[in-house]
Amino acid sequence: MSQDFSDIRHSVRALCREFDGGYWRRVDRDRAYPEEFVGAMTRAGFLAALIPEEFEGSGLGLGAAAAILEEVHLSGGNAAACHAQMYIMGTVLRHGTAAQKKTHLPAIARGEVRLQAFGVTEPASGSDATRIRTRARRDGGDYVVDGQKVWTSRAEHSDLMLLLARTAPRESDQGRHEGLSVFLVDIREARGSGLTIKPIRTMLNHATTEVFFDGLRIPADSLIGEEGEGFRCILDGMNAERILIGAECIGDARWFIEKASGYANEREVFGRPIGRNQGVQFPIARAYAAAEAADLMVRKAAALFDAGEPCGPEANMAKLLASEASWQAADMCMQTFGGYGFAEEYDVERKFRETRLYQVAPVSTNLVLSYLAEHVLGLPRSY
Ligand SMILES: Cc1cc2nc3c(=O)[nH]c(=O)nc-3n(C[C@H](O)[C@H](O)[C@H](O)COP(=O)(O)OP(=O)(O)OC[C@H]3O[C@@H](n4cnc5c(N)ncnc54)[C@H](O)[C@@H]3O)c2cc1C
Repeated sequence: MSQDFSDIRHSVRALCREFDGGYWRRVDRDRAYPEEFVGAMTRAGFLAALIPEEFEGSGLGLGAAAAILEEVHLSGGNAAACHAQMYIMGTVLRHGTAAQKKTHLPAIARGEVRLQAFGVTEPASGSDATRIRTRARRDGGDYVVDGQKVWTSRAEHSDLMLLLARTAPRESDQGRHEGLSVFLVDIREARGSGLTIKPIRTMLNHATTEVFFDGLRIPADSLIGEEGEGFRCILDGMNAERILIGAECIGDARWFIEKASGYANEREVFGRPIGRNQGVQFPIARAYAAAEAADLMVRKAAALFDAGEPCGPEANMAKLLASEASWQAADMCMQTFGGYGFAEEYDVERKFRETRLYQVAPVSTNLVLSYLAEHVLGLPRSY
């Protein structure tokens, strides 16, 4: 059994008690950024969990980070407003120069700088990141960026953005991962000088945006890693993201299961608790089994990541199974609550909307399945 991080869990739980259902309902209703919660998470150092101690972070592993995020979701909260502050910096840590690390990582660890926006998805490329059209063209000591991103979450609440752009044309299907580069864009300087951010209102409170680049000049030293090798630089980060989001889904699933069990014990209809009916019990038990099984995969993937082992299949399976388990639990909880599940005050409908995202983002279920089919099982490439 992997480590349980009970001390960390205890501290996160204590912090989350300050942010109850009423808080999350209010920010959800106003589509507001949960600034107070993010501030508290930052001050407690939880968002610097993965930054090594030499750069003023806590130097913890992904297993600990997963425990932190799981607890936020288990408390009824939503870590999506700040979870990316934990892992986007991984690209700088693993592929940045000594100077880039020294400049950015301690400031991120101290919470003075937010790096929690990651611009990959574009309107015309969808799940196929190799077809992005945003271009970065070298011009003297700068790169000039033109193009558009969509669904760039938290861009309005971030100082820096990790941006994936084409620096060389897509030559062939074979070389589709070549010619992409990653940049660290300073949003504070870029906004109004070629960078425009427009919020997108969605069915959940997610601070997501469209981002437009119109001749934006960024210094050449914004490049992270080698030019043209950007795809490789973000792969580890994508695995970390999938594992951490898997952990959030486990937290959500457990929240729904606890909520449903509590309600099924209390709610009396036909003169007895609804939970006495096996038609109500069994979906709760089934959701519990699914969540426990998915949690094992999240833990396995985190352990492999922390050991520096390849973990692509496990990270993808963790996200797949955990997002399905959380959705199964969400649907079960809604059904257990009957009409009251639809009322705002029980938080079920909010969590139901929030957890649905994770079958689509950061990668959709079909894309995970086709990755497993092709790369793990050796089935023919389908696209
Ligand atoms: C709230 C929110 C926040 C997000 N935050 C970010 C962010 O911060 N940064 C970022 O870069 N992106 C972000 N995304 C984008 C997200 O990663 C994409 O929405 C996701 O990868 C799917 O891409 P798409 O929406 O273009 O769907 P499409 O690629 O258009 O796919 C639509 C559907 O078709 C299916 N499909 C497509 N091709 C195939 C195929 N070959 N075989 C089988 N099925 C297929 C997909 O599985 C999906 O179900 C966010 C999205 C949302 C909704």
